[in-house]
Amino acid sequence: MIDPTMRRRAFLHSASLLAVACGVAPVAVRATGIAPAKRVPLPAPARAPRQNRAPLAKQPLLPLPVGSIKPAGWLRRQLEIQALGLGGRLDETWADVGPNSGWLGGDGESWERGPYFVDGLLPLAWALDDEALKAKAQRFIDWTLDHPWPDGMIGPRSNDDWWPRMVMAKVLIQYHELTEDPRVIPVLTAYFHYQLAALPARPLKDWGRFRWHDEVVAVLWLYNRTGDTSLLKLARLLHQQGWHWQAEFADFPFRHKVTLDDLGMVRRPDGNFDNTMTDRALSGHGVNNAMGIKASPVWSLVTGEKTDREAIYHQLAELDRYHGMPTGMFAADEHLAGRSPSQGVELCAVVETLFSLELAAAITGDVAIADRIERIAYNALPATFTDDMWAHQYDQQPNQIKCSLSPGPWTTNGPESNLFGLEPHFGCCTANFHQGWPKLNDSLWMGTADGGLAALVYAPCTVRTIVSDMTVDLTVTTDYPFRDNVAIDVSPSRPARFPVKLRIPAWAKAMVVTVNGAPVSANRSDGFLVIDRVWHQGNVIAIRFAFEVEREPGFNDAVSVARGPLLFALPIAENWQKWRTRGLTADWEVYPAGPWNYALTAAPLIPAEHPVSSVPFSRRTPPMTVTAKLVRAPDWVEAHGGYADPPPPSPIAITDGETEMVSLIPYGAAKLRVAALPVARA
Ligand SMILES: [Zn+2]
Repeated sequence: MIDPTMRRRAFLHSASLLAVACGVAPVAVRATGIAPAKRVPLPAPARAPRQNRAPLAKQPLLPLPVGSIKPAGWLRRQLEIQALGLGGRLDETWADVGPNSGWLGGDGESWERGPYFVDGLLPLAWALDDEALKAKAQRFIDWTLDHPWPDGMIGPRSNDDWWPRMVMAKVLIQYHELTEDPRVIPVLTAYFHYQLAALPARPLKDWGRFRWHDEVVAVLWLYNRTGDTSLLKLARLLHQQGWHWQAEFADFPFRHKVTLDDLGMVRRPDGNFDNTMTDRALSGHGVNNAMGIKASPVWSLVTGEKTDREAIYHQLAELDRYHGMPTGMFAADEHLAGRSPSQGVELCAVVETLFSLELAAAITGDVAIADRIERIAYNALPATFTDDMWAHQYDQQPNQIKCSLSPGPWTTNGPESNLFGLEPHFGCCTANFHQGWPKLNDSLWMGTADGGLAALVYAPCTVRTIVSDMTVDLTVTTDYPFRDNVAIDVSPSRPARFPVKLRIPAWAKAMVVTVNGAPVSANRSDGFLVIDRVWHQGNVIAIRFAFEVEREPGFNDAVSVARGPLLFALPIAENWQKWRTRGLTADWEVYPAGPWNYALTAAPLIPAEHPVSSVPFSRRTPPMTVTAKLVRAPDWVEAHGGYADPPPPSPIAITDGETEMVSLIPYGAAKLRVAALPVARA
């Protein structure tokens, strides 16, 4: 357990010990030297969630204002690890978000990286109430709010690209929810008015054209606060100029691992590509697809059309069908990559899919979307970082048997793509990963359209919000997803009746719920268990799920082992080799130090619980294991290029194979692993 007051140096020492134990050398750490921010507003008071203003469609679930949910337990420790690693220190070691950033008035990087960094740093800083991190985020925000152009444009003067400003708009709306800083609404209003006038002559292009919906989120946010109808015109114009994802998926063109020909791209002798900004290349791009998942539900708020709201299901189904992975993600090692578990997915695509799904869950009220959020957040997200979050991958693979400087199975990514480091392959993920954990925290609970509260994603946290003009505090105590029980203390400021809605996970064979130890009458409605009663201070809801270890069939009928939201993987012994030092951190290759080519037998899969340590997704101290009987599959070999061949079609015949009892560990903890195992013929 980490004492929250544990000093930074002491924590880093313990984190470094853990890193050494699994083969990662400790990183050098220097003291920070951050100047105080110009303004550090006081913490926001409890606030109610907000329903959409007419004529926008109503939502069944209403995100709580950012700052309403504070992480606790293992989730808090995970956010502390992020803050002590690249998440809180990146600006000290990476010039692209350092003091010379164009978003701080300097002449350094002036495009997406500054806004990307603050999009996650800001909610992280407030979630942890960390004054030093708040000060870091505040400097970017102060510069942006204090330096609009005379015509209303925002951002560095060195470029007028709409795309990075879409990210900064996402930052500013979170910042306003946290602080109610009076500068935000006038600056955003002037910017959107300027853009509405400028777009006809200077329309969306490139990335902004494929990501228009992310700006619509901010435009509708402002409309809900001001009622300025010109904002609805802007939303329509962004849609009109933007990529039509629904039309794309009506006849989805990418039905296998893409080739350069599919994308119309041409590799130059220097390894770079021509034609990267064509419609074909941008619509087959993984991060664009991750962001595009929110397009139809967001647009449905403007049209009120059910067909728009529900188009997301077809979109997700097509991505699953042709590119689905055991983690709930789709393969996109830059571009859509088919279903082999040796293919990768970019970290930006992981965090952007999560953000898309968090918005989509609120707009649709669909608990299946929340199931997918948990599957991705509790597996794909932690898997792609070192335990101390000082290094990350660009691409992660479900079957990741080696992370080395080798060509890999990628069509358009380079040889560094699955290394762990500061900016392997390309620095977008370095700047963008920050939003993953903090925005998950902000989406755990939501308000409901009928004046209640809904548990959307289960994790330890505290919530302070307003329901029916009264402050309600929730304290959620749990080690879910490593355990199957959750306790929720519901404390309204005075006794009051309102519904509390508890998501029923798809994996739960049963869900037993009591209030103050007594059975409770609850209705099932839209995938939630609804307890509608008079709540008194200190009422406690206790939930116990019945989860079973499941065998989930996948590519070539290989099987992935899951229990509840957690995916389990065969951990391969890891040999970490430092490739080069990168400022405060380093780039690492990881070589297998043991065999990986096994098949799963039909023997029972036995789960076991272990203590949840200070590093929740730790290979050294996994909080849960599943014991499996495996058999070596000698014909399954490494492909030329440094990756596992796709698993041979199951079942496979193995004669006289040696069997071993092996502990599978959470996918997120194993950096070398096999998560899609062929099945041995009985
Ligand atoms: Zn990226």
